[in-house]
Amino acid sequence: PVGQQAVLSCAGIERSFGGLKALKGVGLHVEEGEIFGLVGPNGSGKTTMVNVMTGFYPPNAGTVTLFGRDVTGMAPHRIASLGVSRTFQNLALFKGMSVLDNILLGRHTHMRPGALASLFYWVWAQREELANRRVVEEIIEFMQLEDIRDEPVEVIPIGLQKRVELARALAAEPRFLILDEPMAGMNQEEKEYIARFILDARDERDVSILIIEHHMDVVTAICDRVVVLSYGEIIAEGEPRAAIADPKVVKAYLGE
Ligand code: ADP
Repeated sequence: PVGQQAVLSCAGIERSFGGLKALKGVGLHVEEGEIFGLVGPNGSGKTTMVNVMTGFYPPNAGTVTLFGRDVTGMAPHRIASLGVSRTFQNLALFKGMSVLDNILLGRHTHMRPGALASLFYWVWAQREELANRRVVEEIIEFMQLEDIRDEPVEVIPIGLQKRVELARALAAEPRFLILDEPMAGMNQEEKEYIARFILDARDERDVSILIIEHHMDVVTAICDRVVVLSYGEIIAEGEPRAAIADPKVVKAYLGE
């Protein structure tokens, strides 16, 4: 919707790897309360774009503005502490730890190591721990993970592991959530489940969402707007159905 505050604003982003121009001047905006799709064939620059907006790669040119603040070149942990959470294309859960403990780890951006120096650390830590537990319990209920909360993550099916990853990202209580192929390796039923959780997270947890997604049915079902990349450039953008049907997009995917 017009007139809402931009959560993320990228302008003129360029990024090269050696002689390869992975991003050639990409600009995009994510508005508050939006589910925004970043799509495009393999190697089109989607992950590089996310790595630039989360501080993992500094851009060679261009600016990144988050919540109205210029964060270009800022370190990843500082960007995360502004209220940005992300999941990764490949699962990054801690094997040997339970579902509950993996989600609890998502709270680490809320723990301030500097407080260790304080005389009041112990009292503070007790309260912090309680607050963390409360948020995590609430997320476990929201994501319907009660039945497997004490299971080691490696014994549960891949679809549920992806759900745990989403729960961990939500545990940080982000204002902006970036999901890199959250449905990879899922069957139809699991995809529909995750799509529902993503919509509910936006509606009930006040989070704006950027999603990299290959499944076009998912993109048209849940995204408000999309940007389509090909070879580091925007080839279409706007309403998902129209953008995906654009002849340039059809051609880019045929060439894959
Ligand atoms: P996508 O996420 O759309 O599949 P990527 O952003 O991963 O695309 O990659 C875009 C291009 O940049 C590809 O040609 C890829 O090989 C290249 N690339 C990405 N990361 C690196 C890197 N760390 N070093 C060298 N080349 C890279």
